[in-house]
Amino acid sequence: MTRTVYVNGQYLPETEATVSIFDRGFLFADGVYEVTSVLGGKLLDFDGHAIRLQRSLDELEMKNPISKDDLLEVHRELVRVNNIDEGLVYLQITRGAADRDFAYPADDVAPTIVLFTQAKPGLADSAKAKEGMKVISIEDQRWGRRDIKTVQLLYPSMGKMAAKAAGADDAWMIEDGHVTEGTSNNAYIVKGNTIITRQLSNDILHGITRAAVLRFAKEAQMNVEERAFTLQEAQNADEAFITSASTFVMPVVEIDGVAVGRGVPGAVAARLREIYLDESLKTAI
Ligand code: PMP
Repeated sequence: MTRTVYVNGQYLPETEATVSIFDRGFLFADGVYEVTSVLGGKLLDFDGHAIRLQRSLDELEMKNPISKDDLLEVHRELVRVNNIDEGLVYLQITRGAADRDFAYPADDVAPTIVLFTQAKPGLADSAKAKEGMKVISIEDQRWGRRDIKTVQLLYPSMGKMAAKAAGADDAWMIEDGHVTEGTSNNAYIVKGNTIITRQLSNDILHGITRAAVLRFAKEAQMNVEERAFTLQEAQNADEAFITSASTFVMPVVEIDGVAVGRGVPGAVAARLREIYLDESLKTAI
């Protein structure tokens, strides 16, 4: 089926949508993105994603070509015309097309904005959530501004390939002996009654799902500790899990071949997944 996508103000069949070869997203990875999940045809945490998008743009001194209301409208229209019940909406904004030069182009160069959907039936009722994921560890070799959600995703891509080659599902990245995050998700462990996840800084992406899950965990009287943890701590934890807009809360049952806890999805991760899905659906728009 040919999807309808959105490019610079127009809704077009994906086969007719184009971007210039001089686009700075293509030439310099000079662009930012967001991914919003859709359940029951509704957007989860749209506000959180719109706020983070603006922050990413501000950090890069990039113009925002669209108002928040219009952005919501485009998301909803794409969900509607593409008949998305469960899936994802991807949004990318780049600094636009200009003759190749490291310096940012003049102010009159319009940013490029692209949105497209992916249908993901079974996103909420996922088999992986019942089975758990296996992860490997890799050195974190990304740049130092991981708090900005840029389209420079080559290292995460390499990490996923390394995981695949090792028969695992994903990689957790390690810096100075501590886990930063997963290739496309935030990383957590559970020790006793405490949920441990790295504190916010430029070292990790400030996950929208992370913010929601920590808020729900605190509301449910669970202990939350925001600090860095080592790979060994993770392997010796009672549970491990990840969060992201596309996986919600997903248990991790093995790290570098070592079973976490009893090697099966843990109760805390399962409970948080349930709470996250219930609560986010209540405010989905
Ligand atoms: N960290 C990284 C590196 C990511 O790419 C993502 C997902 N885009 C996340 C964390 C999770 O963020 P969110 O919960 O907003 O999807």
